[in-house]
Amino acid sequence: MKISQSKKDTGVYCCAYGCKEKPNKKKAGLCHKHYARKRREVDPVAVRYNQWKQSAKQRGKAFSVTLEQFRQFCRDTGYIVNKGRRGMSATLDRVINSEGYHIDNLQLLTNRANASKGANDARCPF
Ligand SMILES: [Zn+2]
Repeated sequence: MKISQSKKDTGVYCCAYGCKEKPNKKKAGLCHKHYARKRREVDPVAVRYNQWKQSAKQRGKAFSVTLEQFRQFCRDTGYIVNKGRRGMSATLDRVINSEGYHIDNLQLLTNRANASKGANDARCPF
């Protein structure tokens, strides 16, 4: 993502190149969209972790995995690299469906395998 220093100094527009959205000082002079994009570039694991945690919360699942545990899990499994919606991509899955998201109840599964488990609970959270 290209950042315009002159736009950042002026502070009228989001400082991403070519963007005319309002900047947010708390977001380094970027608009909401470009700030989110930058966060994904800088720390995709943290962004994914927050989305995942939010999703688990919305679905009323217990959740005890810390960001550091998630980082380690991603390093061990290559999760962020492999994630996606196609059949052979990886998703996060609970080993025991009735249990919540805890680091020892977490496994990496392909979308295809996840869908074929059949339980309506086993949907990809993303
Ligand atoms: Zn922008």
